[in-house]
Parts: sequence; C-alpha cells; structure tokens
Amino acid sequence: SAKEAGRCRYSYFTDVMSERAEARMRTEHDLRIALGNEDFRLYYQPRVDQRDRRVIGFEALLRWQRPDGRVVAPDEFLEVAEQTGLIVQIDEWVMHEACRQGREWHAMGLPIVPISVNISLARFDPERLVNHVRSVLQETGADARSLEIEFIESQMFAQQDRGQQVIAELKQLGVQVAVDDFGRGFSSLNYLVQYKFDTLKIDRTFVSGLPDPKHLAIVQAIVAMGQALDYRVVAEGVETHEQADILASFGCTEMQGFLFSRPLPAEQLPALLRDGLPADFRRMV
Ligand code: C2E
Ligand code: MG
Ligand code: MG
Ligand code: MG
Repeated sequence: SAKEAGRCRYSYFTDVMSERAEARMRTEHDLRIALGNEDFRLYYQPRVDQRDRRVIGFEALLRWQRPDGRVVAPDEFLEVAEQTGLIVQIDEWVMHEACRQGREWHAMGLPIVPISVNISLARFDPERLVNHVRSVLQETGADARSLEIEFIESQMFAQQDRGQQVIAELKQLGVQVAVDDFGRGFSSLNYLVQYKFDTLKIDRTFVSGLPDPKHLAIVQAIVAMGQALDYRVVAEGVETHEQADILASFGCTEMQGFLFSRPLPAEQLPALLRDGLPADFRRMV
C-alpha cells in the first residue's frame, strides 16, 4: 500500500541520515585524536613570479596523515571540522607550525620566504585570531612580514564592522592579509572597497576557464581592478603555459599552480629554497 511504501521510504531515508551522522561523528572523533597526536602535516605550494620563475612565497596546505598511512586533503574533513568548531584549533596549529617551520628554514641560512595560511571564517572569533597571531609571532620568533593570512571570500565576515577592524589589527601586527578564491562568492566588489587587503587571489575556476572568451574578459577585469585598487594579484590553479602567458599579458605575473609545482612536503623545501624550481620545466609551444 501507499502507506507501507511511505514507511519504507522513510526508513531508507532515516538509514541514510543516520549513516551520514555516524560518519560525521567518526570523523569528528578521529579529528580530535589527530589534533592531540599531531597527525596533521603541512604541504607547501610555491607562489612563483612567472617572469623569472622565482619562488616568492608558499601557501601552507593542510594534510591529515591517517594512521593507515593515507594522506588526506582538506575537502574530506573540512566541513566536519567547521561544523564542530574544531577548525579553530586546527587553523591555530597550522599557523604556529608554518611560522615555526619558516623560522627553522631561515635559521638554516635559507632565504626568508613569506608563508600564507588559510583561516576559516566558519567559527570566526576576531579577538582570538588577533591574539593567536600575536602569540605565534612571539613564540616562534617569525617575522610578521613573512606571514600572510588568507580568508575565503565566500565566507567573508558576517559582521562587517568587526571584519574591517580585524583586518586593521592584523595589519598593525605587520602580517599580510589576502582574499582567497576571489570571484567565487557574492558581493565581491563590495568587499574590495570596504576592506583593505594586501593580496587578491583569483579563484582557480576562472583561471582554468582560460582561454574561453568569457573567462578572458573576467580575468582581465579582475586583474585590472585589483591593480587599480593597489592589490597584489595572484592567480591560483595555473596548469598550462597558455594560461600563464595570458595572465602575464594582463599584467598578473604572480602565480600558483601545478604548472610550477604541486604542494610539497616540508622535507623538499630546503632544496627548493636553495636551488629554485627544478630545471626540467620546459616551454611546450
Ligand atoms: P585554497 O586555499 O584555494 O588552496 C589552493 C588549493 O588548490 C589547494 O588544494 C591546492 O592543492 C590546489 N591547487 C593548487 N594548484 C592547483 C592547480 O594547478 N590545479 C588544481 N586543480 N588545483 C590546484 P587543497 O590543498 O586540497 O586545499 C583545498 C582547500 O582547503 C584550500 O583552497 C583551502 O580553502 C582549504 N584549506 C587548506 N588548508 C587549510 C587550512 O589549514 N585551514 C583551512 N581553514 N582551510 C584550509
Ligand atoms: Mg588559500
Ligand atoms: Mg583559493
Ligand atoms: Mg579554495
């Protein structure tokens, strides 16, 4: 009967729901343990000046080293981390680790290269963030100018006044502030006028759309606008020489992407900082 079919559908639905809830709870449980055990790792992806392929920075990207040896990327656990609020402690660990690591490389005589970290705004506590930045700089002895904080544009500050204030406070501490995934969310232009970021990172989806004419127009406009507003403009997700050449022709020469390098484990960084990007990079015309 229809009633039975309804009940059947209902129990199927609740099964799927409870499976999901269970998976979420398992992930939350595992994340807590991972935080305690320090099972997180940072990978570093070079930011490159396309003109001379010089490494001008790194983005620290979170990886989770599971007990079974799997290295897991953030899209598998970020949602749970944000919903449970664990993301706050995770992001704090990331910032500390990136600054500690940067300081260690500097102590080895390697050049200082700015490191960017991602901060989730899902559980945003402005005071806690500013205090954390201050204490990380103090504890690690890292140079404030070598730390950049990336905020994802689509998550941008709900309380606009606090947003402006926190950016001002961060900049007062000497750190750089970037808007990440620019163009993916809403009210983008509004944010650019209201907040004084240092860096604007063009979302990968626009870059990967090149040379499609619509994407050409959008990317050219973003670069021009960013430069007119005095932002340093970085293109994310550059995978081909064609994309790189188009971006450079628009005046955007700072790039990140698999064309230059994938995110690398920390062990590979000293050689890269000493020798630059490997020489097997060829122009493929
Ligand atoms: P994001 O901040 O925009 O970081 C760039 C992402 O693009 C990274 O993915 C990177 O591996 C990937 N990528 C770089 N170049 C290319 C390319 O040429 N092609 C393609 N297809 N992808 C490229 P990843 O490491 O998986 O991180 C995904 C997102 O997770 C990040 O996007 C960021 O939003 C978030 N995330 C990463 N680490 C952290 C963290 O420590 N805290 C927080 N809150 N979020 C993080
Ligand atoms: Mg980022
Ligand atoms: Mg991004
Ligand atoms: Mg992203």
